[in-house]
Amino acid sequence: MSTQATENVSAATPPRDGAFGPARSLVCRECGTERELGPFYACYECFGPLEIGYDFGTVTREQIESGPRSIWRYRDLLPVPADVASIPNTDPGFTRLVKADNLARELGIRSLWVKDDSGNPTHSFKDRVVAVALAAARELGFKVLACPSTGNLANAVAAAAARAGIRGVVLIPDDLEQAKILASAVYGGSLVAVRGNYDDVNKLASEIAGEESDWAFVNVNVRPYYAEGSKTLGYEVAEQLGWKLPEQVVIPVASGSQLTKVDKSFGELARLGLVDDTPYKIFGAQATGCSPVSAAFKDGHDVVRPVKPDTIAKSLAIGNPADGPYVLDVTRRTGGAVEDVSEDEIRDGIALLARTEGIFAETAGGVTVATLKKLLEAGQLDPDAETVVFNTGDGLKTLDAISGRVGPTATIDATYDAFVDAGIT
Ligand SMILES: *Cc1c(COP(=O)(O)O)cnc(C)c1O
Ligand SMILES: [Zn+2]
Repeated sequence: MSTQATENVSAATPPRDGAFGPARSLVCRECGTERELGPFYACYECFGPLEIGYDFGTVTREQIESGPRSIWRYRDLLPVPADVASIPNTDPGFTRLVKADNLARELGIRSLWVKDDSGNPTHSFKDRVVAVALAAARELGFKVLACPSTGNLANAVAAAAARAGIRGVVLIPDDLEQAKILASAVYGGSLVAVRGNYDDVNKLASEIAGEESDWAFVNVNVRPYYAEGSKTLGYEVAEQLGWKLPEQVVIPVASGSQLTKVDKSFGELARLGLVDDTPYKIFGAQATGCSPVSAAFKDGHDVVRPVKPDTIAKSLAIGNPADGPYVLDVTRRTGGAVEDVSEDEIRDGIALLARTEGIFAETAGGVTVATLKKLLEAGQLDPDAETVVFNTGDGLKTLDAISGRVGPTATIDATYDAFVDAGIT
């Protein structure tokens, strides 16, 4: 990473007073060096990644509960202005937390919940991070909303840019699922299919970000703000459980950002006295075809060795995950684990969740449900502990994963006799 890219300050107007709400500074995750809030993402001392540091005032449950039914109910915990809910955005979040008794019975676990983020505006958890990135990009004076994406992020950025009335530019690997390509292109803006995998696309995006000073690449040069959006998943789970932390959480891992920020959110809630400071374990889920973090966890390594992804779980196919080492920290510190599952287990996971709970997950959800099952069978998850599993995307975007595996029970002529002959009655 070059110093030039780090210091790539946009030709922006200075941010408004209170532009970032309770956020106080940018803090290096490696060496702790602090700097002022701005369009920075790497530490000028050690090039480590920056994250948002806060000065929280008093935040009460009542204050949150009286807010909008979106992530903006947590605006006092995010790097966004107090009036964020009144500015055009996609307003994601407050998705349902489903008590999964049928799945729990089938897996032999006592208390299980599915946090179903397929209900977001573009049907994945990515709307959360993009909404916060858009709010920050606006305050920082960026003119274009952009991203390198494994698919869902492209959908979310394209939609958010359209809603905000600014230009959107999304870069994707050219072998993505058709549904994810069309569900980005439909919003207008520019969609660039790059011959290469996500890690190639990501590298290209960093290069472009170094040249185009008024482009906000949500997960590159405004990543510190973007990443905070994932905290809202943790806040919602705690609020929806009646203001308490779950004992175990299973979270899919691509870059690893989501998992580390859910941990951050639980810590903040406890520190602010919004929940009791009870212990929790965080588990990470990967596809074996792209499992660099799981491999490092199992080998007891602190570094994550990059891999070349090969899996149907394309939304998780990041071979060189930026937050990989931090996922190792969080899962080890909380007593969790990182596990990976095969392509067949992913398909089984999708079918299992659909059959038991009526929730049609995308491949990432299949990975997470299959990992839940595998960890339970291995005795790594406690079947008596309250557990939340994340479904982060919608199965309608990854139909290929189950085509050939499910289909019509029978195809018949439109007569009652034919129906009876088919053995359905
Ligand atoms: C991007 C994505 C994830 C993982 O996000 P990271 O924060 O990069 O680990 C999980 N599920 C779905 C469906 C995604 O699109
Ligand atoms: Zn540093």
